[in-house]
Amino acid sequence: MTEKTELSIVIPAYNEQDNVIPLYGELKKVLESLGKSFEIIFVDDGSTDRTLQNIKELHEKDERVKALSFSKNFQKAAALSAGFDNAKGRVIITMDADLQDDSNEIPGFLAKLEQGYDLVVGWKHKRKDSFAKKIPSRIFNLLIRLFTGTRVHDCDCNFRAIREEAVKDLNIYGGLYRYIPVLVKNKGHKVGEIKVNHRPRKHGKSKYGFNRLFKGAFDLVTIKFLTSYNNRPLHLFGGLGAMMSLAGIAIGAYLSVIRLYYGEPIGGRPLLLLGVLLILMGTQLISMGLIGEMIANTYQRTEHKYVIRERLE
Ligand code: UDP
Ligand code: MG
Repeated sequence: MTEKTELSIVIPAYNEQDNVIPLYGELKKVLESLGKSFEIIFVDDGSTDRTLQNIKELHEKDERVKALSFSKNFQKAAALSAGFDNAKGRVIITMDADLQDDSNEIPGFLAKLEQGYDLVVGWKHKRKDSFAKKIPSRIFNLLIRLFTGTRVHDCDCNFRAIREEAVKDLNIYGGLYRYIPVLVKNKGHKVGEIKVNHRPRKHGKSKYGFNRLFKGAFDLVTIKFLTSYNNRPLHLFGGLGAMMSLAGIAIGAYLSVIRLYYGEPIGGRPLLLLGVLLILMGTQLISMGLIGEMIANTYQRTEHKYVIRERLE
């Protein structure tokens, strides 16, 4: 029988030795009750505790438990990517290993997907974390709504369900895993959300703190750029550069008129400096845009330019 696996559960785990076994127990109960074929892929992100040994024990008892183990801590984006690359399911569910995400929500995710969504993200509406985490998260999600137009409450919630087609050409690295809904929506897929139960962490400790807000700010600029200008960098840099150059040229023309027709000295005028500066910076920005175009051009050859939703053949 080579029937396709229906569900892949992808779980990044970094030093979660006390959580993986109970999590498996919870998942097994919920998934078996669904009556769908499934695989559970643990991605051991270079754990230094007994996480991998515990996963191995599970794998020996149940062949539906799979594991990818990293040579070092490559961080969550890499862990998720590896999980996506190796998942065989039609639907991929990602969740944290720390038991904060409640496996009983999985049927809810699937029901929402059935309504025609390609990605459903959880919304931890009663989040069981410290204020140091809740406040940055609020700000983060507000910024996402403002800048990207993706209207979900909890964009970086790792508890999600994604259709295979939407995962295929997702290119995530660094902090970009927190913007998966934005990236997926940008490809034309339909993004929805459901409220999920969130539980406090019992074992092990959180790997993230307040500083993630600051790192996140740069990622937001990247995301905005990648989703709005990735194909046409010249439209951003060229526009800015052209405006600056034109202002510089206007200043230069004005000063030339004064010098040539009215004979006024212009050598000591700050305006001259500004004019020259604007022309120089403007041309540099335009060239930057052109270099960006070259990079985008080579990149487009490797990246999928479109996603086919349906095929009639
Ligand atoms: N994680 C990971 N690699 C890392 C950091 C975290 O795979 O470098 C995993 C971690 O094991 C957990 C999930 O990512 O399953 C979320 O981590 P954590 O609970 O520390 O984050 P929080 O819930 O506090 O935001
Ligand atoms: Mg957690």
